[in-house]
Amino acid sequence: MTIKLEINPIKEWLPQIDNPLLISGPCSLESEEQALETAKLLAKDKRVFVYRGGVWKPRTRPGSFEGVGSVGLKWLQLVKKETGLLVGTEVANAQHTEEALKAGLDVLWIGARSTASPFVVQEIADVVKGTDAVVMVKNPVNPDVQLWMGGIERINQAGIKNIVAIHRGFTPFSETKYRNFPNWKTVIELRRLLPNLPIICDPSHIAGKREYLTEISQKAFDMGMDGLMLESHLDPSVALSDAAQQLTPTDLGKLLNKLIIRHENANNPDFENQLDVLRNRIDAIDSEILETLASRVAVVNQIGEYKRDNNVTALQISRWTKLMENRVNLGKDLNLNETFVKILFQLIHEDSVRMQTEIMDK
Ligand code: PEP
Ligand code: MN
Repeated sequence: MTIKLEINPIKEWLPQIDNPLLISGPCSLESEEQALETAKLLAKDKRVFVYRGGVWKPRTRPGSFEGVGSVGLKWLQLVKKETGLLVGTEVANAQHTEEALKAGLDVLWIGARSTASPFVVQEIADVVKGTDAVVMVKNPVNPDVQLWMGGIERINQAGIKNIVAIHRGFTPFSETKYRNFPNWKTVIELRRLLPNLPIICDPSHIAGKREYLTEISQKAFDMGMDGLMLESHLDPSVALSDAAQQLTPTDLGKLLNKLIIRHENANNPDFENQLDVLRNRIDAIDSEILETLASRVAVVNQIGEYKRDNNVTALQISRWTKLMENRVNLGKDLNLNETFVKILFQLIHEDSVRMQTEIMDK
C-alpha cells in the first residue's frame, strides 16, 4: 500500500538547490575553532548546503565522548552567520529539541537509536508541533521499515511537512566489511510506501571506514536517492568520535568529483526512446519467465500426485542437494550471480514442496 503523506520536496525549504542535497560536517563538534574552520572550508565547495555537527552524542557505551552539549549550539549559530550554510544537529529528547529550535537551527535530525523508540520520537514530535522545522528521520538500528515509517508519520502528524529520511544502515547480525549493513531493500520499500518522501543516504555511518565511502555514495545515487550526509573533520586522525570514517573537507571535494549523479529522467528523447525499447524487451522476457514457471508448476503437480500415489515424501533431500548443485553450476556457466541463483532456487523449491504437500494432504 502506498501512503500519501503531505511532505514537501527539499526545494520547498531549500529553493536554491538543483542538485542532490549534500550535508557535511563533523560527527561531533569539539571546539569553536574546529566547528568554524571545518565549516569555512566546506562552504567553499558550493555543492554543500547544510552543515552538520553533533552536539549531544548517543554513544553505544558510556565513557566515550558524549558531545560538548548546549554550547555547541552557539558554535552552529556562528557557523551559520559566518558561512551562510544551513546548520543542523541531532536531537534525542524534548529538551534538546527545545534548545535547538530556540537556537534557530535549520535542520534537526532524529538518530538511529532514537527512531527505534516511538516514545522518544513522540516526545520530539510534541515539541516541533506547530513550527516549520525541517526534521530528518534516520532509519532505526533494526531493519524495520514500519518502525522507520512510524517515526516519519509521528513527525508528520505533528504538522511537519519538511521531512527527509536518512538511510544510515542497520546493525549487522554478523561480521561485515561495513560498520552497518546497508540493506538497500528496506530503502526501496520505504520509497515504495512513501513515494513523495525525500530520502538521503549517510554513507559515513554505513561504511565506518573512509575507504568505502565512494562506493556507497555512488550506490546511493544509482538507487535514485536525493542526497548524502557525509561526516568531515579538519583532521580526522584526532577526531573524538568516528575518526575512521570522517573525511577532510578537501577529500570530501575529491570524493564528490568522482560521483556520477543520476536523474530519474534524462530530458533527452533519444534516451527515452531507447529506454522504452529496452523496457519492452524486459517486459517480454519477464512474461516468458512467468510462463516457464507456470509450466514448471504443472510438472511439479504431476510429480506430487505420483509421489502421493506411491507414498513417497514431498521433500527428498538428496534430490534437492543435487538439483541445487546443478542449477548453481548452470548459472555460473551463464555468468549469473551465485547467491542470486541459490536464493531463486531455494524459493522455487520451497514452493514446489508446498504444492506437493498440499496435494498429499487433499
Ligand atoms: C551521527 O550522525 O553522528 C550519528 C550518531 O548517527 P546514527 O544515529 O546514524 O548512529
Ligand atoms: Mn558519527
